[in-house]
Order: sequence, then structure tokens, then C-alpha cells
Amino acid sequence: METVLVWLKRDLRLHDHAPLHAAQGARAAAALFVIEPAWLQSPEFSASHLHFTLQCLAELRHVLAARGLPLLVRVGELPAVLQQLHAEWPFQHLLSHEETGTGWSYQRDIAVGRWCRGQGVAWQEFTQTGVVRRLATRQGWAGRWAQRMDAPLLPAPTQFHAAAALADQPDLPTLASLGVAPLTQTLQAAGETAARATLLSFITGRGRDYRRALSSPLTAESGCSRLSPHLAFGTVSMRQVHQATEGAMASTADRTLAYALHGFAGRLRWHCHFMQKLEDEPAIESRNFARAYDGLRPGDGVPMDELHAARLQAWCEGRTGFPMVDACMRSLCATGWLNFRMRAMLVSFAAYHLGLHWREPGLFLARQFLDFEPGIHWSQMQMQSGTTGINTLRIYSPSKQALDQDPQGEFVRRWVPEFGSPDYPAPIVDEKAALKATKELMYGQRASPEARAEADAVQQRHGSRKAGLPPSGMKRSTGRSKAPPAPSPQGELF
Ligand SMILES: Cc1cc2nc3c(=O)[nH]c(=O)nc-3n(C[C@H](O)[C@H](O)[C@H](O)COP(=O)(O)OP(=O)(O)OC[C@H]3O[C@@H](n4cnc5c(N)ncnc54)[C@H](O)[C@@H]3O)c2cc1C
Repeated sequence: METVLVWLKRDLRLHDHAPLHAAQGARAAAALFVIEPAWLQSPEFSASHLHFTLQCLAELRHVLAARGLPLLVRVGELPAVLQQLHAEWPFQHLLSHEETGTGWSYQRDIAVGRWCRGQGVAWQEFTQTGVVRRLATRQGWAGRWAQRMDAPLLPAPTQFHAAAALADQPDLPTLASLGVAPLTQTLQAAGETAARATLLSFITGRGRDYRRALSSPLTAESGCSRLSPHLAFGTVSMRQVHQATEGAMASTADRTLAYALHGFAGRLRWHCHFMQKLEDEPAIESRNFARAYDGLRPGDGVPMDELHAARLQAWCEGRTGFPMVDACMRSLCATGWLNFRMRAMLVSFAAYHLGLHWREPGLFLARQFLDFEPGIHWSQMQMQSGTTGINTLRIYSPSKQALDQDPQGEFVRRWVPEFGSPDYPAPIVDEKAALKATKELMYGQRASPEARAEADAVQQRHGSRKAGLPPSGMKRSTGRSKAPPAPSPQGELF
């Protein structure tokens, strides 16, 4: 290849990076990250996402510069930024990873493709997850996932030939220079070094209690891998995580650790399984999987009345009068992370207790989750709200969750110190009456002929196949993984 521009997106790492690896052979190369106003203005965006990105870019820019590759960081829409850069330096190839994003990034990719064709620039996209573009059937998907994840890792590039025509780079922008409100959360560390350290600490010991630790917000904080933001921003690849986990399982003499990692390995498959749903049906970010549920709840084509708007606000502020719900929400808003079960409880509460449609609560959560990954997020929002049409309606009782996951009330005391005082609000809904009404509505609709007919179509299009997701083994004898992980009711795949 002659001249190559590597377009970095959610792949902010040096190792196992196909576009960077390919760019090593070019006569002249540069890398580009674009801070797009469309992203900054999207309803899922928050300062934490930008902060994390800028930290990752600072580290990556440094390591790329040491290898002779300039990393340009530009602010502007695409393809206008490409057009401008092309005028400065007429690159012939554009290399990037595929992305399964929300509507704005999908439209942006279409525009970039059009621009490339118009300019005669060859745009090559590489895969970095198990998501398959233009998938005709879910049959065989699991095998493809395994094939991709077992493929050899790409080594970190050592030396590039820099594109000399490009001017020196100014400092990275800041939240303030981009007009973004200051960060309010205390976040986990960003960047590839942090990602590798997080992975290593988990597979060599921290993950030992994973299965026991993952349900309670008290233990999950350190007992879960905490790799989700790193996977979302691509500071580590799914293949790296998969292979490191399989390697640790095979080499450890610690049976407890191996068993725990076996459970963890299964969840890695879920990541791509859920992303595939958005890839196959982009509309699920804003409309129900099962259309038979359209319009049943306020906020779903039906304007939100004052009562439900006030409920939504109380939920967002962690002031519902249900201490476990409020503690989880406040903890999430302060740290950018919450474990799976408590995320599910928050959404179940919004859907079944408060009677809200998932879209508005989902946008709020997307802004709080540092690890916002559209395909997982919107699929899970719908599953936990009962609009997939094919999953069991899973209603979490906040008081049962408090008893099970925080029996001493430690988590609640930490995040809701005023609980028990007159300052703490009374429950905003009567739990019994609210659940009765929602159950009648949802089960009634579920039994309707149109909902039943639709369920088959949803299962056919998005469901995991009989053989389940790709297997993960405790030991590797053939270089391939064995026995499937036991399905967990937590994720309840479909
Ligand atoms: C309503 C809702 C929204 C969610 N939104 C997101 C999101 O935007 N981004 C995100 O990464 N996860 C999301 N999840 C899934 C899950 O809660 C997080 O992946 C997990 O809590 C991240 O912490 P961890 O990396 O320590 O997880 P671990 O338990 O250590 O799992 C390791 C990895 O496996 C994958 N994984 C684990 N559980 C799931 C799951 N149920 N579905 C899909 N992948 C899974 C993730 O990539 C995760 O990083 C959501 C769950 C719910 C209920």
C-alpha cells in the first residue's frame, strides 16, 4: 500500500489492531481520531465517555509517536474532516474497524463510504468482535465466533513510515474546550495499560470469587472483571480477553479459579450475541422488538403524562423511596458502573413498578454507563422491560434484592445515608397495585394472537440456536474450547 490513513474509532489500542498492523507496510501512514459533534450531541453521550476517550487517546498518541505514527485528533463532522485532510495529504487507503453503533454513526459510515467512492479512496473495514455484517441466519453464528476469537493475535506494530506532509499536532482538546460540562463521576482508569492490568489481575486471581461475587453490588465492584469500558472503547480486543481467559483456565492448577473463569468466558460470548441483534435490526434502539407491545406504556409513541414524568425524574435522581433502587442509581451516577443484576433491577423497576417505556430510562442509563455499548444496552433494556415478546417477564423485587444482596444494609447506608430519616421520600408508588396493573397489561398483551405470532419471528431472527452460544472449556486439549457454560438465569439469552 502507498499512503494509508488509519481511522480510529472504538478501538483505542496498539495490540491486536488489524488496521494499525496493516498500516505498517505503507509507504506513508497516519492515524486519525475525529471528535464528531454528532456524537457530542447524541442523547446517549456524556462527559464521562469523552473523558475516557481523551485519556485513551493521550496514551495511544504517545505510543504511536514512539513508533513513528502521528495520531491526528480533529474536531468536526465526517466526511468533511476527511475531505480537509485529503486536501492536505491525498491518502489512497482508509483503514478502520467495523462498528455496530446507533443511528448517527450508521448514517455517518454511509456518508464516509460515499465520500471514499467519490474520491477513489479504498476503504477497508476489519472485524474486531464476533459481530457478522449482513448475516443471513443465526445458524452457525457460534462457530464463526469461535473461529474469530481463536485466530492468532496480531502483534503490536513496531515501526511506521510517517506521512511527512502533515503538520505538527496541537495538544488534545479538553472537555472545556469542546464545550462539554465538567465530569461529575469518579471513573475507573482509562487506556490500554489499564485494560491489560485489569485483565491480568482478574484472570490470575481477582476473578476467583466471580460466580459468588457478581450479584451483589458490594462484592461485584472488585469481583467482576470491570473490563466493560475497555471492551466498549476498544482498549483491549475481545480476542485478547478470550484467549487470555482460555489460557489462564488451561494453565492454572487452581480449580476454583478455573471454574470461575469458565463462567466468565460464557459472558464474553453474550457481548457479541447481543451486539449482533442491533447489527441485524438497527431499529431496536428506538422501537420494540415485538411490535405487539407498541404504545402500551407512556413514552412509547404516547406522550409522557405529568405523573410518569415525575416518576422518571425520581428514578433518575435516586429518590423513589425504594432504598435498594435509590442506592443502585446513586452509586451508578457517581461511578459510571453497576453490576448486571442491579442494572436489571433498575430497569425492571422503571418498567414494571413505574410503568415506563424503556427508551427514556435507557437514554438516561446510557449516559451514566461508562461502558455504553449500544447493541448490548438496547437489547438488555428491552429484555428487562418485557418487550422482546419471547422472554419470561422477569420482575425484580427491590426488597428481595436488598435482603439477598445487601442483607446488612451496608450498600444502602453508603449511598442513601438519609434512609430512615424524615428527609427520605415515601415510596412513590404502591408496589402491589403497580405490579398488578402492569402484569395485567403485559400478560394480557402477551396472550394476544398478534403477540404470539410475532414471537416466532423474533426468535427466528435473533434467538440463540439450540446448540447455544459458542462453547468455552475448562481445559484446552485441541486448541478449541469444549463444554458450554451452564446457562444463567441472569442473562437469559434469546
Ligand atoms: C439494562 C442493562 C444495560 C446494559 N448495558 C450494557 C452496556 O451498555 N455495555 C455493556 O458492556 N454491558 C451492558 N450490560 C451488561 C452487563 O451489565 C455489563 O456488561 C457488566 O455489568 C459489565 O461489568 P464487567 O465488565 O465487570 O462484567 P463481567 O461480569 O466481568 O463480564 C465480562 C464481560 O462480559 C460481557 N457481559 C457480561 N454480562 C453481559 C450481559 N448480560 N450481556 C452482554 N454482555 C455481557 C461484557 O462485555 C462484560 O464486560 C447491561 C445490562 C443491563 C441489564
